[in-house]
Amino acid sequence: MNHNLFDSFATRMQARGAANFITTPEGKEYSYADALAGTERIAGALQHLGVKPGDRVAAQVDKSPEAILLYLATLRVGGVYLPLNTGYTPDEIGYFLGDAEPAVFVCQPQALEAAKAIAAETGCPCVETLGAKADGSLMDQAAKAEAFTGIAQRNEDDLSAILYTSGTTGRSKGAMLTHKNLGSNCTTLAEAWRFTEKDRLIHALPIFHTHGLFVACNVVLIAGASLYFMSKFDVDTIIAAMPKGTSMMGVPTFYTRLLQDDRLTPELTANMRLFTSGSAPLTAETHQQFQQRTGHAILERYGMTETNMNTSNPYDGERVAGTVGMPLPGVEIRITNSETGDHEPLPQGEIGMLEVRGPNVFKGYWRMPEKTRAELLDDGFFVTGDLALVDERGYVQIVGRDKDLVISGGFNVYPKEVEQIIDALPEVSESAVIGVPHPDFGEGVTAVVVLAPGQSLAEKDVIDALSGHLAKYKQPKRVFFVDALPRNTMGKVQKKQLRDQYKDTYQ
Ligand code: ATP
Ligand code: MG
Repeated sequence: MNHNLFDSFATRMQARGAANFITTPEGKEYSYADALAGTERIAGALQHLGVKPGDRVAAQVDKSPEAILLYLATLRVGGVYLPLNTGYTPDEIGYFLGDAEPAVFVCQPQALEAAKAIAAETGCPCVETLGAKADGSLMDQAAKAEAFTGIAQRNEDDLSAILYTSGTTGRSKGAMLTHKNLGSNCTTLAEAWRFTEKDRLIHALPIFHTHGLFVACNVVLIAGASLYFMSKFDVDTIIAAMPKGTSMMGVPTFYTRLLQDDRLTPELTANMRLFTSGSAPLTAETHQQFQQRTGHAILERYGMTETNMNTSNPYDGERVAGTVGMPLPGVEIRITNSETGDHEPLPQGEIGMLEVRGPNVFKGYWRMPEKTRAELLDDGFFVTGDLALVDERGYVQIVGRDKDLVISGGFNVYPKEVEQIIDALPEVSESAVIGVPHPDFGEGVTAVVVLAPGQSLAEKDVIDALSGHLAKYKQPKRVFFVDALPRNTMGKVQKKQLRDQYKDTYQ
């Protein structure tokens, strides 16, 4: 049996034939048969360029249907797909190419000169280009090369992709994902979220992360559904697509931006059956507002680069705001003492380190054996770095990252608890609570606040408003007002950046 993930996709793609796979807002259409033929040609080009099973194919390319075909073609030849954030600078790319040693690097046409220089420095033997409009040397190669219609034989533990983490807490790490990791997760998600051939998924996420590439595209492929494929998130394009879509996967900022538009109504979303959210916490407020405006309860789920998706709110049954639902079928979780690090489960309801085990959990960090040993335990559990609790009904609540925990005067302060109270003030749009060095307390609780449009508030107002709600040690010692919180493309607040910015506050 061939465990190549592409083998399952190809069966589906063949069966779907002339049915639509991808439509773009510009009016380009790709049937499943078109896409399958495209993967054969690009696979032929990759083989011609020397890609062998197990070789990495790195891509820093714009979002386009051809980029998805490149991913699929890489799987087809048994390669390991390595997508890179389009925001990375040449220096950063140098690190990734040096670390991953790909056989081919596919870059944007306009970046060719810089890419060649980096490839020469890092010993990468081949650079090709792929543009947003199906242009570039890779497509020329694909047109010329003999198509590869086979599917390379792979075992379930062979690598299908190396995906670098977002770098929120430090330098990005290459997560080694196997064919089984990706295959099991998309099958589970398609079932849990009831994806069928009738679905049309509105796709506005980037395709260099788990969310946009594996959750969205793999689920659609395994279900034989179709993609309404946008180059980026744009409110007008999304609103225009909504009446023809059935589902959308988003990050919380998609929802907050949609909520600012008066066209978001029950009528507009009447054809939609599912909205999901992940990659960053969705506030209970956004969840409730979206439900009031559209009648849809956003389904929040939780995952990470290393594990694919771990938990999900139920499709049927209550989707509880502020929680990420329950473990997906086949996924086990436990909450352990993050301070002792003994990995023993804590009593129900207590906050601790979230650990996960299952067929979704990666094989380890690429060329980081020590980090792998520290976080991927002998019993198969992976230490996520996220602090969480399980409520009495079994719903998981993510409390924040272990690295964002503030320890002030020896007491633990969970930023989310403070943020929730600040966010509930009518004048406040959102906030981030961080710990920065403090001579007496070790760390000083510090709040960075974004006010709602047209509102004003003084530092003292925020501190006074919290005093009745929070123990003294949890109250921010200083409050700063900013126009916007720093976020990455997935809407994750960059607390590391805030800690750097405010590090001298108490010195
Ligand atoms: P790095 O590991 O390099 O510091 P990162 O953890 O941000 O970066 P990703 O793998 O892209 O990289 O993100 C996974 C993290 O995103 C999770 O560990 C969790 O902290 C957060 N996350 C994902 N979904 C949710 C969610 N629904 N609610 C809260 N946090 C979430
Ligand atoms: Mg992480």
